[in-house]
Amino acid sequence: PMIPAQRLQELPTQFFATLVRKANVQIAAGHDVINLGQGNPDRPTPPHIVKALQQAAENPQYHRYPPFNGYLFLKEAVAQRYREDYGVELDPETEVAVLFGGKTGLVEIAQCLLNPGDVCLVPDPGYPDYWSGVALAGARMAFMPLLESNGFLPDYSALSADDVNRAKLMFINYPNNPTAVSAPASFYEETIAFAAKHGIVVASDFAYGAIGFDGQKPVSFLQLPGAKEVGVEFYTLSKTYNMAGWRVGFCLGNPEIVRMINLIQDHYYCSLFGGIQEAAAVALTGPQDSVHELVQMYQSRRDALFGALDRIGWQASRSQGSFFTWLPVPKGYTSESFSDMLLEQAKIVVAPGVGFGDHGEGYVRLGLLSTEERLREAVDRIDALRLFG
Ligand code: PLP
Repeated sequence: PMIPAQRLQELPTQFFATLVRKANVQIAAGHDVINLGQGNPDRPTPPHIVKALQQAAENPQYHRYPPFNGYLFLKEAVAQRYREDYGVELDPETEVAVLFGGKTGLVEIAQCLLNPGDVCLVPDPGYPDYWSGVALAGARMAFMPLLESNGFLPDYSALSADDVNRAKLMFINYPNNPTAVSAPASFYEETIAFAAKHGIVVASDFAYGAIGFDGQKPVSFLQLPGAKEVGVEFYTLSKTYNMAGWRVGFCLGNPEIVRMINLIQDHYYCSLFGGIQEAAAVALTGPQDSVHELVQMYQSRRDALFGALDRIGWQASRSQGSFFTWLPVPKGYTSESFSDMLLEQAKIVVAPGVGFGDHGEGYVRLGLLSTEERLREAVDRIDALRLFG
C-alpha cells in the first residue's frame, strides 16, 4: 500500500466534501434540493471581464510561460484599486504578490512563517483553510473563540499567555465567514497593537471586503496605521467580481512577507495564465458598477431571507457583510443533527456550524447564493416543519 507522508495525515478532513456528498444523494433520488450550504457565487462574471479574457487569449505572448510572480500591470491594477477604495498606498513591486486565489496564500503564509511547535492563532468558528496551512507546516493551532456576546470578535485578553508567547502568526477575517459580521476600525487598531507587542504576524483575510450591507463599507486592515509593519491582507477577485473559477487573489502589505510568499511560489508555479492576469486587471481598473449591483443584490437577498425568518419566528442577527447568514439552531438539535434533518425533511442544504470549529456549534450557516424566490421557498419549507414560534 502507498503510505502518505505524515503531513498529509495531519490535514483536517474536508468537511464540505461530506456536505456535497450528502446533498448529491438527495439530488440523485430526484428531490428538488435548495443548496444554501456552499459559498460559491451563483452569478456569472461581468461580460466586459469575460470579453477581456477572450481578446487576451489571442495574444501569443501569453501562450508562453508567464513571468515568475505575475505581471507588473496586474500588481499596479490592484494597487490602484486599494488607493481608490481605501486610500491605501501599495508599492506594486514589493508589496503585492499574485496568488492562485486567496486560498493558496492562506496556506503558503503558514508554511513561510511556522516551524513545528510554533503556534498559530485561528478564529473559531472560522474558514477551515486556515487549519490546512498550519497542519502542513507541522505547527499547532490555538483557537480564538468568536462569541456572539463579543460581536464575534476575538477577545485577545482571554487567550492563554503561553499560546500568545508561542504564536508567530494569526488569522483574522472580516467581513467574517461564517458569522457575517464586519469589524470596526478600532478592532484593527487593537489587533495591530496586540500583534506588535507579541511579535505576531497578522494575516487579514479580506475575501468579503467588497460586501458590506446597510451602507457600511468594510474597513481594510491596511487602512490602519502600523498595519504594514505587522502583517498582510489577502484579497481576492472571487467574490467581488464573481470570478471564483478564475483563481485570482493577492497578498498585500508587508514587503518581507510578500517576498516570502513569492519565494515559496517560485517553487510551485510561475504564475497565472497571462490572459487571466490581463482580464483581472480590467476587472480591477474598469467600471465598478457591477460591484455596487452585486452588493445591492446580496442586500436584497439578505432582506428577503430575514423578512421571511422574522415571519416564521426564527430570530437571528442580520448579516452585516459577506454573503452568509449565521443562524442559531432550535433547541434539541446540534448543528449537525439540525442540518441532517433539514436535508432529509425539507431538502435544504445548510452548513452545520461545527464544521467551522467547536464554537460554531449551535449555529448553521446559510448562503445568500440563490434567488430571493428560492430563499423564500426554503423558509416556507422550514416553516412547514413547525419548529419555531
Ligand atoms: N477566505 C474566506 C473567508 C473565504 O470564504 C474564501 C472562499 O470561500 C476564501 C478566503 C478563498 O477564496 P479564493 O481562494 O477563491 O480567493
